[in-house]
Amino acid sequence: MNVITLNNNVRMPQLGFGVWQVADDEAEKAVATALEYGYRSIDTARLYHNEEGVGRALRASGIPREELFVTTKLWNDQHGYDEALRAFDASMRRLGLETLDLYLIHWPAPKQDRYVETWKALEKLYADGRVRAIGVSNFTVSTLERLLAEAGVIPALNQIELHPQLAQRELRGFHAERGIATEAWSPLGQGKGLLDLPVLAEIGAKYGKTAAQVVLRWHIQLGNVVIPKSVTPSRIKENIEVFDFALSPEDMATINGLDEGRRLGPDPATFG
Ligand code: NAD
Repeated sequence: MNVITLNNNVRMPQLGFGVWQVADDEAEKAVATALEYGYRSIDTARLYHNEEGVGRALRASGIPREELFVTTKLWNDQHGYDEALRAFDASMRRLGLETLDLYLIHWPAPKQDRYVETWKALEKLYADGRVRAIGVSNFTVSTLERLLAEAGVIPALNQIELHPQLAQRELRGFHAERGIATEAWSPLGQGKGLLDLPVLAEIGAKYGKTAAQVVLRWHIQLGNVVIPKSVTPSRIKENIEVFDFALSPEDMATINGLDEGRRLGPDPATFG
């Protein structure tokens, strides 16, 4: 498993397992399966209502805590300094963990205009050693610029919608200049449409890999952290088998050419 080093020297697996839209019991099973296949990083959120199931699977696995990397996020109704501190405590109780690896502001929710205040709470949790790294999600260049102007700690990463049809070139460049890692959500484009593009199957055939594996490998070679989701054991296994081949520069360029700025999720400039 490839590892990336965050801007505070914390090491994070480059590929993890996402559990959005997976009910608590099902998340417990899916995470147990993912851990068996070698995943060590799990991405959840208060919004997903499965932090308890994730916590049960982590404990039941018997894997030493220091080998696991757990991310959760505070939701849009938990912005504000005191609210964020309370949100963290509640998530930690549900997860059943002492220390978290990565805590994220799920959306900047610019209309609320409280994300700087929220960030100050994350800085406090970080200073107190309750979380090993803090970051954001769905921040744009403009919300990041404002945050960076007021922040004491630079976010370790920004988790954003990113897949071949929404390649986020500008934001990735901005992150790279400032030492912020890029994490891709919906890295497979939610499986809809993207994975059916014949060109991905054609590229995959050259390497004996599926379209999903080709897309995940494209992310890995760009340097993105990825957190694909599946509840199907064979796909959970397939999605981590992307470290035994490399796409040629020509195939990378072909996939780069699929970018059409197509967003599947909400627009972060207005959402929340
Ligand atoms: P994804 O791009 O990972 O796609 C998942 C879907 O693709 C699956 O439900 C399945 O239908 C299909 N799929 C998965 N593996 C496949 C395979 N090998 N072959 C064929 N089809 C396959 O989408 P996602 O779940 O939206 O994103 C992944 C994770 O990102 C989430 O679980 C969550 O942890 C995170 N996320 C974060 C945000 C955010 O706002 N921060 C938003 C959405 C998702």
